[in-house]
Amino acid sequence: MRYDIVCVGGGFSGLVSACRAAELGAKALVLEAREEERYPCSSRFTTGVVNVMGVGVMSPPDELYAAIMSGSAPKADPLVARVVADNGARVVEWLSSKGARFINRALQKDQPGQRVLAPPRRLQAGLDWEGRGGDTLMRQLEEFLRGRGGDLWRGAKAVSLAMEGGACVGVEVARGGGTERVEAGAVVIADGGFAANKEMIAKHITPRADRVFSRVGPGAMGDGVRMAEAAGAKIGGFGEFYGHVHHAAAMTNEKQWPYPHLDSIAELCVVVGPDGARFVDEGRGGVCMANAIAGLPDPLSAHLVMDDDAWANEPKYSLTVACNPAMTNNGGPLTTAATLDALAKAIGAPAAALADTVAKHNACVAKGDFSGLAVARTSRKHAPLPIAKAPFHAVPLAAGITGTMGGVVITPNAQAVDADGAPIKGLYAVGTPVAGLEGGPRAGYVGGLSKSFVLGLVAGEHIAANK
Ligand SMILES: Cc1cc2nc3c(=O)[nH]c(=O)nc-3n(C[C@H](O)[C@H](O)[C@H](O)COP(=O)(O)OP(=O)(O)OC[C@H]3O[C@@H](n4cnc5c(N)ncnc54)[C@H](O)[C@@H]3O)c2cc1C
Repeated sequence: MRYDIVCVGGGFSGLVSACRAAELGAKALVLEAREEERYPCSSRFTTGVVNVMGVGVMSPPDELYAAIMSGSAPKADPLVARVVADNGARVVEWLSSKGARFINRALQKDQPGQRVLAPPRRLQAGLDWEGRGGDTLMRQLEEFLRGRGGDLWRGAKAVSLAMEGGACVGVEVARGGGTERVEAGAVVIADGGFAANKEMIAKHITPRADRVFSRVGPGAMGDGVRMAEAAGAKIGGFGEFYGHVHHAAAMTNEKQWPYPHLDSIAELCVVVGPDGARFVDEGRGGVCMANAIAGLPDPLSAHLVMDDDAWANEPKYSLTVACNPAMTNNGGPLTTAATLDALAKAIGAPAAALADTVAKHNACVAKGDFSGLAVARTSRKHAPLPIAKAPFHAVPLAAGITGTMGGVVITPNAQAVDADGAPIKGLYAVGTPVAGLEGGPRAGYVGGLSKSFVLGLVAGEHIAANK
């Protein structure tokens, strides 16, 4: 069995790589470890908002490039960032030519060039993927692939790469109880990263991996990065992740993820650790807060603290599914108390420390000046809210990991490189498990979809051109 291109993983990054290569005349195979007809993965679960670092994907490439370079400094690789920025609009057009439908309205009003995969998910608690944009596009791409003579094997798990003379020439595949080797002109690592792998989370993100939760499908086990590293590829860029701030109940309650999440309201109130003190700049948003929460000695020890006005107005600030009432109606209770002292007692924080945190916060809100706080506080669209009107509320928090950052170091063609930076013939990496686009102190997040779509497209083209 020989293919020009074999993709490890049947999410968008693998499907787009294979479809584009097949469109250009290559014989393509996608290996998918899961057996289900509609196998669960991030691409199927996606909300479908295509943007680049929060900037609409149809925006001018220079704007997208600048957003990546500043958001992910110093981890962004200028050449890879340039490719994503330059091809955002092109990949939307290419997907449209394969039947993808996009809604041209912004889900977030401040992102005018956004495209959202249609039909969009309904704004309700819990997973909602069947027949939505991600699920629909996956089936369209599979159909296109088969129409071009390509294959998608379900229940086929890549276990190692076959290397000869420093080049990747195939992949060992476990399926049907046995193992077989598939020869390939090129292998594309497209396995969705390692957000479902506790051991790798413990190694790269937090030793308390049991105290954060995976906001993804079960297949993101990090096989790709491990196989690529074993084959001599350079890996790096780990440390941060893309994710959201959730009620701690999300650890066990499926109605608490992927929505509702608390990013928007937490950005406007205060997040405290077990000592009652702030430890993160809430104004930097949900990804930064989730990373800081995961970085606590106990990632399940933080609380969001707000007053009754903030909670009552929460739906006004939420950009997706309002927590009030979706969180409380679905098993994510608020802790409520008539006084801050009583609230501190209820959440197990020192009352004096919590009172001090809130007093300093309120003084800053009154002045409209947040300088001088021990932990810096910035703000984006809305100014932080006072914590003044009783009763007061607290929410126990958990960090949810949607996408890991870091992985295989690649060239602008998505080709893996070796320890010396030289491209490895026949080995590519696309989508989640790549380095050079995300992370850094601001935990810059390019956007899982734009990254998967664009890198998939350029990998498919490069492989087809070199077959
Ligand atoms: C709830 C949710 C909402 C999201 N919303 C957005 C959004 O609005 N906008 C946005 O830009 N991004 C969003 N994302 C992220 C985005 O959907 C993903 O980044 C993107 O779909 C990842 O695609 P992928 O192909 O890299 O990985 P995946 O879709 O995870 O696919 C990887 C596949 O590889 C398979 N696999 C793993 N190991 C092996 C192996 N050894 N052999 C064979 N197969 C293997 C897995 O089973 C899986 O099916 C969201 C993610 C989630 C979970």
